[in-house]
Amino acid sequence: MKKSVIVYAMLLVSIAAASPVFAAVSPLERLLAGNRRFVAGTLAGRGTGGKRRMELAKGRRPFAIVLACSDCRVPPEMIFDQGIGGLFVIRDAGNVADPVVIGSIEYAVEHLHVPLLVVLGHSGCGAVKTTLEARRRPAGNVGSITDKILPAVVEARKSRKKDILNEAVQDNVKNTCSEIVRRSGIIRKLVAEGKFGIVAAEYYTDTGKVEPVVSGPRVPPKK
Ligand SMILES: [Zn+2]
Repeated sequence: MKKSVIVYAMLLVSIAAASPVFAAVSPLERLLAGNRRFVAGTLAGRGTGGKRRMELAKGRRPFAIVLACSDCRVPPEMIFDQGIGGLFVIRDAGNVADPVVIGSIEYAVEHLHVPLLVVLGHSGCGAVKTTLEARRRPAGNVGSITDKILPAVVEARKSRKKDILNEAVQDNVKNTCSEIVRRSGIIRKLVAEGKFGIVAAEYYTDTGKVEPVVSGPRVPPKK
């Protein structure tokens, strides 16, 4: 078994292990409930007003970290129907992890005691598509992004799946999860102790649904 697969399997186990530290409603369930409201068009519509701002001026306690793509169709606070102060959000093109991203996660974990990270890829990701279609390394700093995504594209091509782009999106999410754990002793320790959970997920830009990314064949999203 490849090392990255082992790390990824460990992450999935860690989600269950992390559950006991959660309150009555787990952070993951809170996010998924918000996404169900977003899909149904029944947004709670609260958490952005003056009262909430006054509360947050005194301190904040976000309940989840979301590492998402910068794509304008994937704003985490909206697709999880959260107001201000609920999510610690990190975004870059392709939801890849470099030292600044991993340092931001460590900050949220160590200083704000956030118990959950969701790494969120999405259907039709332009950064993944650019990597898939590039004949050579893109000029400028975009190459730093495609370098990170390239291993997922190579894996997806090998899979010979019909939807290579989506396969690469999901492999990229898994690779990002693995890289975060591999490059952060702080996060690795907390995951091993069951104090921190990491979830790999994909947002579908057509249905609005967030679905977990699991190993093995992709389950098509329910319409
Ligand atoms: Zn994207």
